[in-house]
Amino acid sequence: MRRIRRPVGEPLGKISCPRCGNSTRFVEQLESVLVTTTYLQNDDGSFTPLEQNSDAEGELSFLCGECGYDMTPFHGHFREMVF
Ligand SMILES: [Zn+2]
Repeated sequence: MRRIRRPVGEPLGKISCPRCGNSTRFVEQLESVLVTTTYLQNDDGSFTPLEQNSDAEGELSFLCGECGYDMTPFHGHFREMVF
């Protein structure tokens, strides 16, 4: 299990990029997503989408939205703070 790093910036609990200081824009990146869509073929040969499932595969990354600095150790904290 990946260790969750707690931000120590001011105000307490806010993440900021150690490289550029950005504390407002962040990016969550998924390496690959498998999207499966089920279609129903109609009598006239056309197709109607029924449902779509997305399965996340691979590593999740958490990046600075300004300079792209890898802040993945903070991802656990980020997830807890998404409302
Ligand atoms: Zn940055």
